[in-house]
Amino acid sequence: MRDDEELAFFPRITRREFLKYCGVLGAIIGLGETAAPDIASAIEKLAKRPAVVWSLFQECLGCSVNLLQSRTPSVANLILRQISLDYHETVMAAAGDQAEKSFRDTVDRGDFYYIVEGAIATKVPGAMTVHGETSMDIARQTYKKAKATIAIGSCASDGNIQAAAPNPTGAKGLAAFLREDAGIANPVVVNSPRCPGNAEDTLAILSYILINNKVPELDAIGRPVFLYGQLIHDNCERRGHFDAGEFVEVFGDEASQNRFCLFKVGCKGPVTNAPCPTRKWNGHLGWCVRNGPCIGCAEPKFWDKLTPFYQPVANVTPPGLGGATPTQIGEAIGIATAVGLGAHFIGQVATGRLGKGGPPEQEESSKGSKGGSS
Ligand code: SF4
Ligand code: SF4
Repeated sequence: MRDDEELAFFPRITRREFLKYCGVLGAIIGLGETAAPDIASAIEKLAKRPAVVWSLFQECLGCSVNLLQSRTPSVANLILRQISLDYHETVMAAAGDQAEKSFRDTVDRGDFYYIVEGAIATKVPGAMTVHGETSMDIARQTYKKAKATIAIGSCASDGNIQAAAPNPTGAKGLAAFLREDAGIANPVVVNSPRCPGNAEDTLAILSYILINNKVPELDAIGRPVFLYGQLIHDNCERRGHFDAGEFVEVFGDEASQNRFCLFKVGCKGPVTNAPCPTRKWNGHLGWCVRNGPCIGCAEPKFWDKLTPFYQPVANVTPPGLGGATPTQIGEAIGIATAVGLGAHFIGQVATGRLGKGGPPEQEESSKGSKGGSS
């Protein structure tokens, strides 16, 4: 088959585009681009288009929009042809009772994959209903019948802003809901937290599951290690300035124009595990730290534990912090994955290379932070 011929099983996609996609996929899931032929072969052998049910709960639709408006249309086209998206309230042509029937038919058959976008309302169930059913009932019943379940974005992974104190609706991520409210001891949910969820992450996780017939290796909070195994700080384009002790002190200062490191104006990259600097958004063109500090949206309870957003990470005082260990810092900021702090970052803190003159209000902000020790 020639490279510019369309694939029989993916009309309008050429063999060249398909292999390119498989190369991207191989790079994302850690096999490297050279695995493209093997991945292509595995996808071609999929017996039939797997059914996917996609629930929208407490969310803003950002994750879906990110997928549908992907700047790499061949990727989106491929995955949308690779699967049978049997139910997605916004995308599907059916509406009302017809949509509900499609949902029921697929779930009753049982041979489907489940994607959840949005948080579950547990304290005020009526705050999130679809076709008269609460998000709790839908999520519990659908999870039990699915072959595998993926929580896309920060809302489905951990509740996101909806779960910020005082959390009036009792918003929770899917896994926490299943464990704490639905009586499922060890739910297997692949979490892919970022806000919004990244289209290529979604496609990579789903493709990994389809190709390998199992979920990928997950970290302690259910995130695929192949995507979330590294700190943002360790891949950041501003890292050289961090190493050189060159920091933005105030937004808009000369250091901002020189694109120096954003640690002192609140960047949470040193305590956030996520692929943002490498995967990026909008056709790999942009990501948060290109414009401002990371707020740590891939980490649990970031809205409470990593605030104030524009202050340096709580309880980490740049100058004179010699002797701090990753565990101490992790306890201070109260996030489970802080033990993943890069050894280099700890070295920088311990040796005071973050520079002199940390903001005087830092101690105050640390005391006032909602994060604290957990
Ligand atoms: S602190 Fe933030 S801006 Fe600075 S190098 Fe780390 S991730 Fe990049
Ligand atoms: S860079 Fe930080 S704030 Fe931006 S999406 Fe990634 S984890 Fe979230």
